[in-house]
Amino acid sequence: MRLGAIEAGGTKMVCGIGDETGRIEERASFPTTTPEETVAAMLGFFRGKAIEALGIGSFGPVELNRNSPAYGSITTTPKLAWANFNLLQAMQRELGVPVGFDTDVNAAALGEATFGAAAGLDSCVYMTIGTGIGAGVVAEGKLLHGLLHPEMGHILVKRHPEDRYEGKCPYHADCLEGMAAGPAIEARWGRKGAELADDARVWEMEAYYLAQAVVNLVLILSPKKIILGGGVMHQRHMFPLVRQITLDMLKGYVQRDEITGGIDSYIVPPGLGDKAGLVGSLLLAKGAAL
Ligand code: ADP
Ligand code: ZN
Repeated sequence: MRLGAIEAGGTKMVCGIGDETGRIEERASFPTTTPEETVAAMLGFFRGKAIEALGIGSFGPVELNRNSPAYGSITTTPKLAWANFNLLQAMQRELGVPVGFDTDVNAAALGEATFGAAAGLDSCVYMTIGTGIGAGVVAEGKLLHGLLHPEMGHILVKRHPEDRYEGKCPYHADCLEGMAAGPAIEARWGRKGAELADDARVWEMEAYYLAQAVVNLVLILSPKKIILGGGVMHQRHMFPLVRQITLDMLKGYVQRDEITGGIDSYIVPPGLGDKAGLVGSLLLAKGAAL
């Protein structure tokens, strides 16, 4: 089945053509400027490619309620040109194919649960730590939605005892995203994360916040695998730190061998690398086509 996919991000839109096996045969990326310009560029890419369906994993918040007239819109984004823009309808109207739509992180979670680090499992969480923090959830074999959709980047965290940084979230200041996303690292330490690789204090503090998120995920959702992706997790040396602090904070309360025995394969990087979102969006397309 020939499928189209869009990983819709606040900086760029990654578009791909592929199939339901997750194979991507062509990919292109367009800067996220105005909806008019960006949509025109994406339509240019997909036209004439004979796709049977399209899947979109989008930055948000997004409207996922199929009964709402706004289904398929980006809602209250700080990127004002995109606020209330209906990306699903704009693409569907012009391409005339079924369109599957979900959050970017749910798409990535679906990709990972199907072909990636959580393949064969009926539950996992995919959390991205990049410009923002967000998480997608597969629970009992299905993507989790709910009232809006999970917004786990904004959960509340305990402050590291040595952290004097006020926090970067425009809504909550010192929520998880405000303390631990890439821009928070840069604001706290005065340099980009990639340039701080050798400073142990940076990553110990970062891991302290991420481990709190992991602990809460374990306790609330009981996922069978937790996948940590996004630019900040390119600091691979953080994985052992996050795992250790998670164990310290859980204090043996959750007695499952996956955690107490084999946490190295419980908290892991994405199996699909940076393709998780696009592969997941192909699967959203497949779901829409059926
Ligand atoms: P986005 O979240 O915008 O989709 P990324 O996942 O690449 O994009 O995240 C970008 C953020 O990750 C930036 O804040 C950047 O500073 C940070 N980042 C990128 N690479 C690294 C790295 N190697 N080490 C630490 N931080 C990084
Ligand atoms: Zn917040």
